[in-house]
Amino acid sequence: MTQRIPVAVLGATGVVGQRFVRRLAHHPWFEVKHLAASERSAGRSYAEACAWRIDGEPYAGLGARPVVAASPDAAFAPVVFSALDAGPAREIEPAFAQEGALVFSNASAFRMADDVPLLVPEVNPDHLDLLHVQRKARGWRGGILTNPNCTATVLVLALAPLHARFGVEQVFMTSLQAVSGAGYPGVASMDVLGNIIPLIKGEEEKVESETAKMLGRLDGKKVRPASIVVSAMCHRVPVLDGHTEAVSVKLTGDPSPAAVAECLAAWRTGPQELGLPSAPPAPVRVHTDEDRPQVRRDVEQDGGMSVHVGRVRRCPLLGIKFSLLGHNTERGAAGGSILNAELAHARGWMRP
Ligand code: NAP
Repeated sequence: MTQRIPVAVLGATGVVGQRFVRRLAHHPWFEVKHLAASERSAGRSYAEACAWRIDGEPYAGLGARPVVAASPDAAFAPVVFSALDAGPAREIEPAFAQEGALVFSNASAFRMADDVPLLVPEVNPDHLDLLHVQRKARGWRGGILTNPNCTATVLVLALAPLHARFGVEQVFMTSLQAVSGAGYPGVASMDVLGNIIPLIKGEEEKVESETAKMLGRLDGKKVRPASIVVSAMCHRVPVLDGHTEAVSVKLTGDPSPAAVAECLAAWRTGPQELGLPSAPPAPVRVHTDEDRPQVRRDVEQDGGMSVHVGRVRRCPLLGIKFSLLGHNTERGAAGGSILNAELAHARGWMRP
């Protein structure tokens, strides 16, 4: 590709926004045109407006760039990545879509709307076609595409190949979620150090409903959710990045642990076949060491874009159980959103 597509990052100063900026600063298809945040940050340089909290070159080399307001007047680009909180996203993202931008959103504001794709490219790439319905219904030239909640993203990447091969009937999942999932400053250190908090407001409901939507079937104008029972119990733990999930699953036909592990390890799909720049070589890495996956040793592999499964074994309750790990701010947020944009590009949605 000769000319890169200009993009804007909304919420560029936040936890997810910084990861967008780091990934996009050297992206082969996209070029950062605007960095946008709240009125508190607008008018300052990127380095002044935010404290850079991730590894690598500070501000990804864009520290001198001005931060602008998150409005189409100040920050329009044909492709927009949104790391806004749900409240501002509800007003701001439609304004960009109306002006003709394709908005790739991390916020929960539109995820469950009937005409909005909730996408993980390996799982439900065909749901992208909801954009036709959305444009017709809302009269927009652009559109809003969302990626799921970080915990649901990690879970669905392990469930999708099992659902395709065997059929998933029931899921019981207990999460141990990193503090970066709550943004910055997020959970106070005095609340979470040496502690586990058994409540992340709204999280369990999001995991349950979003998983069923993603594994559902696009039927004309809407997605029919998969008839899978998902029960989630979500906890905040003193880990910086990386959500661990203890998963029990009832599969049709009661396959063996070996068949399940083989199915997960062999899974390759659209993003790998299309060679999308942010796609990991394999979406699911299956570990055979009995004490893996571990956050500190595994979560950064493949730039945080693969998920990790270990300890696949018999579950006396539902048949199969395993440990699952994924990067909440990479695959579960910025990286996942950029992979969605790469899929949309490969499918021709970004032609002028
Ligand atoms: P965060 O660190 O609190 O960052 C929020 C960003 O939004 C900041 O750049 C902030 O700008 C901007 N902002 C706030 N109010 C605004 C307004 N009224 N107008 C324009 N910009 C405004 O949050 P985060 O963790 O990055 O999360 C961002 C979004 O991603 C949320 O919707 C979250 O649910 C979702 N998400 C997060 C994760 C995760 O693991 N963290 C995973 C998946 C999805 P200022 O600096 O100027 O205030």
